[in-house]
Parts: sequence; structure tokens; C-alpha cells
Amino acid sequence: MDLKNLYQEVILDHNRNPHNYGAIENADASAKGYNPLCGDKITLSLSVSEDKIQDAKFEGCGCAISTASASLMTDYLKGKSFSEAHDMFELFHNAITKNDVEAEKALGKLSVLTGVKEFPARVKCATLAWHTLEAALEQNEQMVSTE
Ligand code: ZN
Repeated sequence: MDLKNLYQEVILDHNRNPHNYGAIENADASAKGYNPLCGDKITLSLSVSEDKIQDAKFEGCGCAISTASASLMTDYLKGKSFSEAHDMFELFHNAITKNDVEAEKALGKLSVLTGVKEFPARVKCATLAWHTLEAALEQNEQMVSTE
């Protein structure tokens, strides 16, 4: 187990300077997520029109993995349709929980997070932002928990 595989420079950069950090005023959709295993908390807000995510921002406090994942996810989401976002979540989930190599290849920039597959306790840190996204798209006002 080499921690370098987990904490790649890209991840540390996103943790130090998260992209899309903040809240969208008058957001069309939002949700809160919590990962009790690690204590990660995130609030995601989206601006949406015609089934496309126009903008995405997040706030919260968590570990480097959860912050980098939210930063990379919000970068990815801009301009994507709901179904594209769902599909990417599936790919991401398969790559880090099922060691799906084909899925991993399709991840693009998100592939820097696949090191978590060696650290099962950290998988939920990486997926928290995506679970929160699903809740926001389903207009689920309750806080989602990874547990
Ligand atoms: Zn965490």
C-alpha cells in the first residue's frame, strides 16, 4: 500500500485550491451530504436549465480526498446533461469499487482519484460529492449520508 497512489499531486492541488468553491445564489437544485466514516460534509448547489447543469459549486469541510473529488466533479459537471452526470457516476463508482479497468479509462481527469480503490475506507470520501449530486438532481432536501 503506497500512500503516494492516493495522494497524488493533482489531488493535493485541488485540496489546497478547490475549484468552484462557494454557493450559487438562487440555486435550482442543492443538497447536503455527510460521510460519517470520515466526517466529510459537503453542500452542493447547481444551476440547471433544460436538463443541463449550467453551473455547480460546493462548500463544506472534509479530507483531501472528499474536497478534491468535489472540486473535480464540479469542474466536470458544467454543461453536462443529467444522464451524462449519472453515467459518469456509474463509471467512477465501478472504477473504484469493482476495479473496472475499462471504466477507469473513460474517467478522464477524474481518474486521479482511482487510487482510493486500494483504501476501501476512503471510497466513501471519493463518492460523497457524487451521492450528494444524485440527491440534488432528485430534489431530495434531506441530508444524504454515505452510511
Ligand atoms: Zn474523507
